[in-house]
Amino acid sequence: MTPTSAKLLPFAPANAERPRFDGPERRARGAPPPAGRRVALVALSDARARKWCSRWLRQARFEVVLVDDGGAALARVEEGAPSVLVADGGLLLANGLSICAAVRVLDGLAELPVITICSGRGHFARAVDAGATHVVPKPVNWQLVAGLAESLVEARELAARLSKTSQRLEAAERSLEVAWKHIHQERDVDGLTRLPNRTRFESLIERAFGAREAGSELAVLYLDLDRFKAVNEIVGRAGGDDILRQVAGRLRSGLHAGDLLTRGGSGAGTAAIGRLSGDEFTVLLTHVHGRRAVRQAAHGLLRCLADPFVVVGKEVHLSATVGAALSAPGTRTGELLLQRAELALCAAKRQGGGMVRFYDESMEPLSERTLDLHRMVKQALRDEELQLHYQPLVETGSGRIVAGEALLRWFSPELGLVPPDEFLPAIEGTDLMLEVGEWVLRTACTQHQAWTSEGLPPIRMAVNVAPSQLRRADLAALVETVLRETGIDPQQLELELSERGVLREDPQIRQQLESLNRLGVRLSVDDFGTGQSAIDYLKQFPLDVLKIDRSYVAGLSRSDRDAGLTLAMVDMAHSLKIAVVAEGVETRDQKDMLQGWGCDELQGFLFSPAVRGEEFREMLASGLATGEAVGAETGAASRTELGNESPDPAG
Ligand code: C2E
Ligand code: CA
Ligand code: CA
Repeated sequence: MTPTSAKLLPFAPANAERPRFDGPERRARGAPPPAGRRVALVALSDARARKWCSRWLRQARFEVVLVDDGGAALARVEEGAPSVLVADGGLLLANGLSICAAVRVLDGLAELPVITICSGRGHFARAVDAGATHVVPKPVNWQLVAGLAESLVEARELAARLSKTSQRLEAAERSLEVAWKHIHQERDVDGLTRLPNRTRFESLIERAFGAREAGSELAVLYLDLDRFKAVNEIVGRAGGDDILRQVAGRLRSGLHAGDLLTRGGSGAGTAAIGRLSGDEFTVLLTHVHGRRAVRQAAHGLLRCLADPFVVVGKEVHLSATVGAALSAPGTRTGELLLQRAELALCAAKRQGGGMVRFYDESMEPLSERTLDLHRMVKQALRDEELQLHYQPLVETGSGRIVAGEALLRWFSPELGLVPPDEFLPAIEGTDLMLEVGEWVLRTACTQHQAWTSEGLPPIRMAVNVAPSQLRRADLAALVETVLRETGIDPQQLELELSERGVLREDPQIRQQLESLNRLGVRLSVDDFGTGQSAIDYLKQFPLDVLKIDRSYVAGLSRSDRDAGLTLAMVDMAHSLKIAVVAEGVETRDQKDMLQGWGCDELQGFLFSPAVRGEEFREMLASGLATGEAVGAETGAASRTELGNESPDPAG
């Protein structure tokens, strides 16, 4: 046999284009063939062996390059890398040089599969030493060799695809982090002054509670400019904005100068300034020991504003009023502390403003009412005045009803229809919330089972779970009992947990979610986008659905920012394999935008408000939430939810 070097051997079909490893655009030395092409380099000294081997390899859709000695094989490899090498054991060591060793240092060939044909045990060991990955004994079944080559190459291609996918995933995760930060930064910062807004400020208080030292308290100062409306009229809107920016600047530098807090040795520290709305600013003080330091800081703030402001060439004199509240033992939420400071501010304003006042209980207008409401809801539960209404969730493209959300209604003979937003806060955190929550869960699941056994199209039942229910240790046990009692398929029960209650670093809540997940029920994050949660929780917790808060949907056509954030949330959820529901869809425009972005399900007055069970059943039987057409033509606004509701005599 004469060495043919890189020459094509005679049994390659004459009309076949000569396989070239490198395509039109030159590749790096030894680079593998472009995706989709498979090239087998066959180095066999025996002509019959080459013939059969190449025949079967072509059957397996390989382009075949044939050579009959090791040196030629090496030359061809350098010209362009093959996907597999089939070689005689004897040829692997060409002139004392291992082809494998020479090949494997080339780009992309470190893992080149090498199938070696050997005739005896001794040869096996030598072939493996020389770098063969697979050894085939003689006599050779060439069909099997071709099959082996094919599976080896497929495995490599798969591995390459997987590594590309994982790179893409990593890139997607990185852009997620960026999108997430952007969502929070934009949502949490006041555009005019770049100070934290209400959401952010509350969460800063929450965080300060977590970091508080024993024995020290927090305080919030709520500052409001006096007669700012009149100032706005004098200097114009732009001038007013300018003043607000200057106020923010003076407060910031006043607090950071430090003497506000340390004068008189009060030792209080400051954590944050916020702008809650219009001309309202807030300051959070930490390390507070008693009222004195707080009072000093508040008066210091007022002094910061004493010098006149200059805008549009005019001098403007301002004064302000401050309400102050200290965290008493037992107050642990930012919301409550802020509320108290605001009550104190209102009391000070009623006295004419320009002063500092501290919160005291007499300022609470709500406490009596809360107690009354609590008593009345308790009675309402006994008297069966509570009902569930159901609002459809529809599949985005088809408008088909895929789920119903159970929403509480209280028809009070005395007060009329009381919306849940009004009476639930009065019982949240108490045992009564747990009782009501249990009643809701049981009633919704029983209703779902009734519809299922009637043969109506299967849907999911979404049930809201209050934060205090989520903190209750036996929630999973309760859900399990209700699943058993009612026979509802766990996959058809969806628990809606408000973002603020659920996406947080709390081992108890993590455990809770995991137990619920083990039961097989679906978990949905409600009001998504309103909280302060870190993206990590979305990744770590077993969540199935994300419900974009209706405030974003409402802003879709008005604000590019809300549209951008909504799109970012949809993408982010999808990359984490979480389904997305948009709630509060009222117009065609909103629907079209959400549909275009691939939002999975929609809910809102455009389709239907929450309706009595009987009415929902009709919708389900007819297969569609018919409200879509009604909402679009008659204007969703005319079909308001409350207008549509009436006490259900059937209960
Ligand atoms: P949510 O869970 O965010 O429920 C959606 C609310 O948005 C419902 O108000 C619903 O009627 C309303 N909604 C639906 N579509 C539209 C729309 O197109 N536009 C507008 N503007 N609003 C729409 P609802 O029924 O008054 O409930 C208010 C909140 O009360 C609920 O907010 C939920 O947080 C709470 N809630 C209601 N029922 C229960 C319950 O059984 N248990 C618990 N824990 N909370 C409940
Ligand atoms: Ca909900
Ligand atoms: Ca919601």
